[in-house]
Amino acid sequence: MCPVSIVCPTTQIIVSPGSNLSHMDARKRENLTIVELPKSRSAVSAPPILVASTHTVDYCCGNCGAVLLHADVGQVYGLLIHCTGCGSYNSTEG
Ligand SMILES: [Zn+2]
Repeated sequence: MCPVSIVCPTTQIIVSPGSNLSHMDARKRENLTIVELPKSRSAVSAPPILVASTHTVDYCCGNCGAVLLHADVGQVYGLLIHCTGCGSYNSTEG
């Protein structure tokens, strides 16, 4: 007789396949500044997200928080982004 009882420990690994939760905070988020659209200025629309550089900073609508632009810090100046989610104009300046 060999009453060996191997109790498999209940593993509590809660990981969804393809989950990126551990990387949630890896990317920096910045809120853009809401501005009035100046006359004779044109604006680009987002989302879909504009990508100047990947895996850097998420620039978000200063009104609704939607991600509008991926870019490096200081990479994009003087761009006006029209948020298609809420209709606000966001400036990348300042
Ligand atoms: Zn918005």
